[in-house]
Amino acid sequence: MIRINEHFTKLKASYLFADIAKRVNAYVAANPDKPIIRLGIGDVTEPLPPVAIAALHAATDEMAHRTTFKGYGPEQGYAFLREAIAQHDFQALGAKIEADEIFVSDGSKCDVANIQEIFAADTRLAIPDPVYPVYVDTNVMAGRTGANIDGRYEGITYLESTAANGYVPAPPANATDLIYLCFPNNPTGAVATREQLTAWVAYARKHNAVILYDAAYEAYVRTPGIPRSIYEIEGAREVAIEFRSYSKLAGFTGLRCAYTVVPKTLKARDAAGNEHTLHALWNRRHTTKFNGVSYPVQKAAAAVYTEAGKKQTRDLTDFYLGNAKLIREAVTKLGFTCIGGDNAPYIWVNTGRDSWEFFDLLLNQAQVVCTPGAGFGKCGEGHVRISAFNSRENVVAALARIAATLK
Ligand code: PLP
Repeated sequence: MIRINEHFTKLKASYLFADIAKRVNAYVAANPDKPIIRLGIGDVTEPLPPVAIAALHAATDEMAHRTTFKGYGPEQGYAFLREAIAQHDFQALGAKIEADEIFVSDGSKCDVANIQEIFAADTRLAIPDPVYPVYVDTNVMAGRTGANIDGRYEGITYLESTAANGYVPAPPANATDLIYLCFPNNPTGAVATREQLTAWVAYARKHNAVILYDAAYEAYVRTPGIPRSIYEIEGAREVAIEFRSYSKLAGFTGLRCAYTVVPKTLKARDAAGNEHTLHALWNRRHTTKFNGVSYPVQKAAAAVYTEAGKKQTRDLTDFYLGNAKLIREAVTKLGFTCIGGDNAPYIWVNTGRDSWEFFDLLLNQAQVVCTPGAGFGKCGEGHVRISAFNSRENVVAALARIAATLK
């Protein structure tokens, strides 16, 4: 009989959000008269910005006529979008990124999951704890780790993010090859300063390593001086790949559009010592396994860079940050310490007790769903993540229920 990829059997039995859904569904089934409010999963709730809707309609009309119809587009994305990205997201910050270094895709989840394919099987990994689970699980599937012992996979250097380091890990003492960083962070909401990112770039340059920089929440940075891109750091073009998404910037979670930046100056060696550009490898991988994002969706993404689009997406992210501020203030008032919420849509609350126990308390007593920190890694124990993605009405109601429960 055909055999399976046994690395899959090392994965933890179920995905965090499946565990949460199970408990929430059981509660709802037993208490149909008690409506719950979800501040758990990181999906957006507000509709698409009007510029995106208008662009989708116009592009759909183009598809209706032989003269303007579009079939397969370039796998890397249309030039109109790649040029807008290079100009507005990088060159405007003083970061030297060109349009042909950008690969448009249907989501950062796929990109951060797939990128590991271009690296050797024995690549040494450095992965934060707590973490967006995709970075770990995709490397487990690819066989880059040993077994999961006591909540940690053998063969990974875990970058612990705790209250002691302000939830921003410093480079480790040992050498590693592939480093996952995410700022503003999911789940903690922490951001890294220019000095902290400079230390990471210096570490990567010293060890000929590559940083995978997930900036899915870049649009939420408000504190002046906090870098929005790793390429704002001198020397990052030789050591970093960056991931960006329209999901949390413009509410595209259901529309799907993102991009990955692979600078042409980023090099790695094969076993014989020959140099290769990672841009060429990723281009080969992307064009072989991906056939491009739909034309209407790319037009909608490009609309985000118009003056009206910039204002509408700013208003959208300001709205969620307004929710985040209310959450921060409410949990602080209840006596908890927390981080995030000022440059990120997540608030990471130090609960001082078991995170699943706290989750159950909020579900059963307040009918509010949060995300237990332990689901994001060992260092997430004692914390929960509260998401600002919801209507103002729901956030205010949830906070009143939480206050009544925890007072
Ligand atoms: N990276 C991080 C850190 C995320 O939290 C998410 C989604 O929640 C993603 C990537 C996925 O984004 P996308 O919707 O573009 O697949």
